[in-house]
Amino acid sequence: MSDTTKAPGARDTRTTQHTNPAGQVDVLVIGAGVTGIYQLYRVLEAGFSARLLEAGSGVGGTWYWNRYPEARFDSESYTYGYLFSKELWEEWEWSEHFAGQPEIERYFNHVVDRFDLRRHMVFGAKVTSALFDEQTGTWTVRAEDGAEHRARHVVAATGILSVPFVPDIPGHDDFGGEQYHTGRWPKTPVDFAGKRVAQIGTGSSGVQIVPAIADEVAQLTVYQKVADWLTPLNNRPITPEEQSRLKADYESVRDTLNTSPSGFLHQITMRSGLEDTPEQRQEFYEQKWNGPGFTKLSEHYYDMTTNATVNEEWCEFIADKIRSIVKDPATAEKLIPKGHGYGGRRPPFGTGYYEAYNKPTVELVDINETPIVRITETGIETPDGLREYDIIIWATGYDFGTGALNRLGVRGRQGLPLEEYWADGPSTYLGVTTAGFPNFFFPGGPHGALGNNPRYAGDQVEYVMDLLIHARDYGHDVVEVTAEAEQEWTDLVNDSAGQSSFLKSSYFYGANIPGKPIKQLLNPTGRWKLQELIRESVDSDFPAFAFSKAADPEA
Ligand code: NAP
Repeated sequence: MSDTTKAPGARDTRTTQHTNPAGQVDVLVIGAGVTGIYQLYRVLEAGFSARLLEAGSGVGGTWYWNRYPEARFDSESYTYGYLFSKELWEEWEWSEHFAGQPEIERYFNHVVDRFDLRRHMVFGAKVTSALFDEQTGTWTVRAEDGAEHRARHVVAATGILSVPFVPDIPGHDDFGGEQYHTGRWPKTPVDFAGKRVAQIGTGSSGVQIVPAIADEVAQLTVYQKVADWLTPLNNRPITPEEQSRLKADYESVRDTLNTSPSGFLHQITMRSGLEDTPEQRQEFYEQKWNGPGFTKLSEHYYDMTTNATVNEEWCEFIADKIRSIVKDPATAEKLIPKGHGYGGRRPPFGTGYYEAYNKPTVELVDINETPIVRITETGIETPDGLREYDIIIWATGYDFGTGALNRLGVRGRQGLPLEEYWADGPSTYLGVTTAGFPNFFFPGGPHGALGNNPRYAGDQVEYVMDLLIHARDYGHDVVEVTAEAEQEWTDLVNDSAGQSSFLKSSYFYGANIPGKPIKQLLNPTGRWKLQELIRESVDSDFPAFAFSKAADPEA
């Protein structure tokens, strides 16, 4: 396995890009998000020639596109950032425990410039096709602008939450006002002052927007399909003492994050809820409510998601909080989730979300009671009539896991389209590659995700590096996972659904996208299992792969 503890200095460790006359590179990375930037860094560090194609005009991926009001981490800032360089760790200071989008975007720009990665990047290059040529063992990748790029290996770091989903509501295109999806938010700030605004969707993105614009709008109507168990994010500035401690503790923080099952610094509570008295449990729930972000899941009683008594009691605790915050009892009841316990869906975290419904400008519509009939030129029609709006916000989520990969136009051996191969759901080996698509990798893609994204995706980036270096060392042009190894991992993932609390009705199974097969898209076996299998694979020289020479590698 690559030495993740190695902290290369900075510019002096970078290799110069050396493309051949035809412009072919060893590795073409797609996507300048958290995973793609890291992959590019590692690839260059290992001395490969590389290029990165990015559809946007800047770096950051999710944190480039999601610039809606109050878009913010709900992973602690320092657990989301890179760990590969002590110098980077020491020189970058996050201002808050949960940083906002502008600061996050600045961070990625800083990293890219600090390590001189930008000159290897092509922006505005939305990939439309990637074709594998069996003769040469190379890929030809085309971008929307017609540019053609050739590479031995392609790493699609295209993200799991990068293809926005907009429900097919009749009249969607008829609306004459402004419309924005959270995942494609414009760079020019949207002016909400005095506007009548409709927001559709109340997931992690939607709940951040509501309190952010509630005071600015003339009127905000929130259309809710499913209420989720939202708890406070409890964000705050990082104090100078905390900054110093974080810097001093670099090695231990890095080691904890590199081995934590959730990718956080949180400590699992090694106690069943039933070991505490009911009074102690209420005190514990209060502590959780007041704790930061994901500690409500990762530091809860270890059996909170599996023990019905504890789960129901914790949910009732949250429900009581909602009732105590939201003044209108009917609105409070609508905001209390029905039909799933805590951990059944990805819990959102917010600041002032419930409180926003006490403002006269904010109203909640439960679309299960009052469905949207159609969108008209001037507004949204429900059985209660037409309401007119100036702006519609679509906070309706993403085609999770496979959405971006299935739209890249990837064609493997014999021209097989990836989206056809995955028509019944993804089939992968360790969530990084798939049979019939040699020299093609997708760290941070389906079957890998669990916990804090950069951490498990980072494990996969390093695995891809080990594989590429091994292939280079032995002079192999073509690297391809065997169908058997892929089947084994895919079966394991599908058979391990019981190890995760997430319901089949959630987007983690693709249930939010009409017609998408309901298939496991996460890695429910956990990060430790993934790390164990990666270690075994590297230590035994990648037995799951077939390595070969291309028939005509120079063609
Ligand atoms: P999401 O969690 O999928 O939420 C979208 C919501 O819109 C869902 O409740 C969905 O219901 C609902 N919806 C779908 N169609 C609808 C319709 N026709 N009418 C009304 N509602 C409709 O998407 P998201 O909020 O963008 O968050 C996605 C993920 O991004 C999060 O889970 C998180 O992993 C990540 N995220 C992270 C942060 C952070 O780190 N701070 C912030 C934002 C997002 P169904 O689920 O029933 O379809």
